[in-house]
Amino acid sequence: MKILAVTSELYPLIKTGGLADVAGALPAALAPEGLNVITLVPGYPVVIKGLTDTQVVQRFEDLQGGAAKVIAGKAYGLDLLVLDAPHLFGRGGNPYLGSDGKDWPDNGQRFGALSQVAALLGREQGFDALHLHDWQAALAAAYVKFIGGPPCIVTIHNLAFQGNFPASLFPSLGLPDSAFSVEGVEYYGGVGFLKAGLALANAITTVSPTYAREIQTVQDGMGLDGLLRHRASVLHGILNGIDTDVWNPATDISLAKTFSPKSMAERTENKRAVEKKFGLETGNGPLFCIVSRLTGQKGMDLVLATTDRIVARGGRLAVLGSGEATLEAGFRAAAARHKGRIGMSTAYDENLSHLMQAGSDCIVIPSRFEPCGLTQLYGLRYGCVPLVSRVGGLADTVIDANDAALAAGAATGLVFSPVTLEALEHAIDRAFALYADPIAWRGLQNTGMKGQLGWGRSAARYAKLFRSLKVKS
Ligand code: ADP
Repeated sequence: MKILAVTSELYPLIKTGGLADVAGALPAALAPEGLNVITLVPGYPVVIKGLTDTQVVQRFEDLQGGAAKVIAGKAYGLDLLVLDAPHLFGRGGNPYLGSDGKDWPDNGQRFGALSQVAALLGREQGFDALHLHDWQAALAAAYVKFIGGPPCIVTIHNLAFQGNFPASLFPSLGLPDSAFSVEGVEYYGGVGFLKAGLALANAITTVSPTYAREIQTVQDGMGLDGLLRHRASVLHGILNGIDTDVWNPATDISLAKTFSPKSMAERTENKRAVEKKFGLETGNGPLFCIVSRLTGQKGMDLVLATTDRIVARGGRLAVLGSGEATLEAGFRAAAARHKGRIGMSTAYDENLSHLMQAGSDCIVIPSRFEPCGLTQLYGLRYGCVPLVSRVGGLADTVIDANDAALAAGAATGLVFSPVTLEALEHAIDRAFALYADPIAWRGLQNTGMKGQLGWGRSAARYAKLFRSLKVKS
């Protein structure tokens, strides 16, 4: 089967979060299942620069106000179709935000164009199905429905980002008037890209079984729970895997020292390297880390509120992340208050993120909601014990170190609930207690590192779903 995946981010070319990792890993994961995945991405400058073996396969005189073309090419072993539309995507920096931190004002036109071109390529280039990642691609399901194209799967990586725009966008989208209806793209009087995809796709997936349940509730459905309940029979929770070649502590060139479950003492060299990077003192207590967007979704305000406690108990904390200004300022202030115990960097640094998983003892992820989460999976793979809230994919991937799980040798981390400061503090206290027992801690690390974190089972589920679409279409 020939699949056109459509995504606004793709590791290693352009990444702001987990979507890029997943879109980058799925083509190789699905190949053994007999699926040939070609990925359509916007022609951001870094993408155009990274392309080889190029060939123009489609030209547009006027796509949302400018000339554009689709270039077929390769990068990092991925087969790509790139929408080269300089007036829409020829800008540096973040794919979604200008340098003022606000959404690009023409995001509706930009990702409307991406979706329109996706459906057209789907029709004209012999694709058997479209795989639409998040709102930036979801409107393609509407072009398919109202103009034509192959069956679609929409994958929700984060329901918080919906791509809602005023109705004034609609005339520029090139959809027939009939598409502006409750059954189509209309959403509370405006245009809803994700809403349209969820209403019109042949199947919907999201990135963990627990999140698939949560988003059907009023509490976590972000206004789309009714539609998702309505579509429950075609909604599937398929857990994300990780690329176990990119994230392999035995071969990772970002590390100060590679290691495996048999040579865990080598982790110490990575710990020293993390301490050095963050200006931390060496100490006996655990080194906690954060690698995250600094947002309320990720519970970062709660971590900030525990910093004094972590330090008072003899721990240290290294924070790599950027996001909400108050949180950035808060962590900066905590680092200044606890010099040598708390370190902070707002850089986006892929290599450092690997080193931190290799050198820290415990990664803290107290998300208020978490579709899947990848950093806990990287933590498991690198012996960096995850301390997580019991929500979404975190609940599906980390086994709490309660007495029964410890005794059975099944525990892989610390899981707490509800997502409150009190519960997080209690979990941090438990982490200190477990860390003081080296045999128990090593047990957590070993069990986590032995886990099946790759794409195997999930790739098979995606493949089954794609094949079922072909049978029906
Ligand atoms: P989300 O997609 O919601 O941000 P995930 O846990 O699914 O969360 O994925 C986050 C990805 O972004 C991970 O690969 C993580 O390592 C990476 N990441 C987050 N912040 C940074 C940063 N400052 N530097 C490098 N990588 C980061």
